[in-house]
Amino acid sequence: MRQSSGLFRLAGALFLAICQHTPVELVAQGAAPSTYDSLARTSRKAYDWLSLSSTSIGHRLTGSPQGRLAESFADSLFRTMRLDTVYTYPFQADAWSRGMVKLTLGDGAGSQHIACVALANTPLEALVDAPLVDAGNGLPEDLERIGDRAKGAALLVNIGLVAAAEGVPNLHRSEKAKLALDAGASAIIFVNQVTGGVLLTGTASIDGALIPVPAACIATEDGASIRFRLEQGVLLTARLEMRNQSERVHARNIIAELRGTDLAEEVIVVGGHLDSWDLATGATDNGLGSFSILDMARVMSEMPFKPRRTVRYVLFMGEEQGLLGSRSLVDSYRSNGELDHVRCMVNLDMSGNPQGFGVGGPEGWHKALVPMCERIKQLDSSAFAGTNSQEVWLHSDHQPFLLAGVPVIYPLSDLGKHIYGCYHSSCDDIHLVRPEAMTNNVRFVGALLYELANAETLPPHFTESGLRDRLVKAGLEGPLRIGGDWPW
Ligand SMILES: [Zn+2]
Repeated sequence: MRQSSGLFRLAGALFLAICQHTPVELVAQGAAPSTYDSLARTSRKAYDWLSLSSTSIGHRLTGSPQGRLAESFADSLFRTMRLDTVYTYPFQADAWSRGMVKLTLGDGAGSQHIACVALANTPLEALVDAPLVDAGNGLPEDLERIGDRAKGAALLVNIGLVAAAEGVPNLHRSEKAKLALDAGASAIIFVNQVTGGVLLTGTASIDGALIPVPAACIATEDGASIRFRLEQGVLLTARLEMRNQSERVHARNIIAELRGTDLAEEVIVVGGHLDSWDLATGATDNGLGSFSILDMARVMSEMPFKPRRTVRYVLFMGEEQGLLGSRSLVDSYRSNGELDHVRCMVNLDMSGNPQGFGVGGPEGWHKALVPMCERIKQLDSSAFAGTNSQEVWLHSDHQPFLLAGVPVIYPLSDLGKHIYGCYHSSCDDIHLVRPEAMTNNVRFVGALLYELANAETLPPHFTESGLRDRLVKAGLEGPLRIGGDWPW
């Protein structure tokens, strides 16, 4: 019953979207970004669609019925707009889904259950009973410190950095899992650093394949009390049992295009992942980004003018399981020559209320971005600060583009801190999202798309040596090597 009334609401939203085109003749002609902004600033559609998806579809786990419904919803919304092309890019993936998980702590005298959630891409069936060893932050130096005690142990590992020396970079949980595996661990118990009993999921695998040992996440409070006992010299054992499912599924990136005019062969990709984890509805990760992209496409398609370059809107699936949709798409671009046409990639992942943009590209890109940010600021300096930065980072859908040499751009978000505490957890829900944060996504990322699409010239891609230097300088060689993604 709930499902069918949800489907009615989705159908209603699609009908409304078809009926509510802004008549083109009513839109004042003028400079592209300001005309666009006059329409975007009053739109709450991104938030309304996300809200509807949250109540009618739920989570958007890749390969699940809900994930497929979300793909169809996004595809249908694109098709209500005045876009030139809407298509899907199908790919296959091994989709993991959770079954049961149970963690019991023993101290020789008794036992105690600890609340936990399984990390994704953990074994389909596992039962491990092993001594518990504190591996601190799970960095190479932590594993070196515990040495042979890691072999066969259940390792307790922080997800965030705790009491680390200043400037020490953290590693992604999947990279920490790989290090723990290489050290011989028989189970990994991650400790979340968010207070209030928050449990976090996410992939434990660097490449999307199942890892051979069970890995689960416990709350920071339980982690602290376990550590206290270990420090007191109590010998603890962890019994971690889990059953999960994994099956080969078909998933689809949902893609739409607004074809450019005189520079139509050059493409600006704006993307974000539509899929989410299954513990909540993924409202911030990444409903914020993906539903904003849908409304950007809608508003841009209503404009009485077209961008010079083609704008391609891409909603990726499979990001959470290991960037599966974006890796697959970039692989296809590499083999069909399309990569040369993609001038840059703008990625929205947990992006909202942007105050500026960061860029990872050859030197010329930052120089080009600064005046763009300045012009966007002139649209509304009280809502957009026009800040800019140069940075490269990993673990979202821009990564495959970056590693292929394509310059990447990300909004510099100004979202409340409360949002990040619910990352990948059961509280990542619509109540965290302010409609204005999404409206401002649509406004200012959309304005940037016009800047990029209409620029007289754009700087080139990375050269191979330039990319290598940039990754090394950003300290990303180590993480990329651990993940098997270092291209050299
Ligand atoms: Zn995300």
